[in-house]
Amino acid sequence: MARIIAVANQKGGVGKTTSSVNLAASLAVMEKRVLLVDCDPQANATSGIGLDVESLSSNLYRTFFTPEKALHAIYPTRTPYLSVLPASTDLVAVELELVDKMGREYYLQDVLKNVASRFDYIIIDCPPSLGLITLNALCAAHEVLIPLQCEFYALEGIVKLLQTYEQVKKRLNTSLSLLGVVLTMFDTRNKLSAQVKNEVERCFPEHVFKTIIPRNVRLSEAPSYGKSIIHYDIKSKGAAAYLALAKEVAMRSATAPVR
Ligand code: ADP
Ligand code: MG
Repeated sequence: MARIIAVANQKGGVGKTTSSVNLAASLAVMEKRVLLVDCDPQANATSGIGLDVESLSSNLYRTFFTPEKALHAIYPTRTPYLSVLPASTDLVAVELELVDKMGREYYLQDVLKNVASRFDYIIIDCPPSLGLITLNALCAAHEVLIPLQCEFYALEGIVKLLQTYEQVKKRLNTSLSLLGVVLTMFDTRNKLSAQVKNEVERCFPEHVFKTIIPRNVRLSEAPSYGKSIIHYDIKSKGAAAYLALAKEVAMRSATAPVR
């Protein structure tokens, strides 16, 4: 069965999509069968990995309330071992459509149950909110990975995120665990980056990944070519960082309890 990892942080622009796409591609390089699930209506992960959102006949929205059709919404990518369950702008409607549904937090779990046996990893790119889509992702996942941008307000948002994580773990998905916090857009020339790193390591001594993702312009260029950093520039610092993160995730996942 797949290990299901939700990449979550309600702040926008912290590196969720970049981390989801490039972690997924790096795990695929390790010949792990990976499904990248794009839960953000902005569909940045979908286009960033090279799929044309408009031309796809199915997507996550179309299968959200018909989980038995999940397999029809999965597309291969140019990266061997990497498939995508794409997003579309319609996904915005899911938040509203779920409101009066019973068990509204568990719809994505039902979708993924239908395809989990085909993959080693399922990586969920969450939208920048703690709304029902993110709750669905946290209920479908075994583990949460939190990208944290090395900037002044980084830790403010994480408190709310951790409260949500604790509540989900207590009431909705008792087997959820915190896979780790990954520092993103780290700038060695910037004192603030180092300060944030120290602070985060102090707050989460056992949960900060050793791998730090540097600020790397190649990482920001790759999506406009519809490529992961692995295919865009394997020699870049960004590629080395995400390959190292994938190794760490594989090690940590191997020791995590299987549900
Ligand atoms: P989120 O999904 O959390 O909103 P993104 O992954 O889309 O964040 O990243 C926000 C912006 O920062 C994007 O333009 C992306 O290309 C850029 N970016 C992300 N990580 C890096 C990095 N390590 N170095 C340089 N730019 C980055
Ligand atoms: Mg995003």
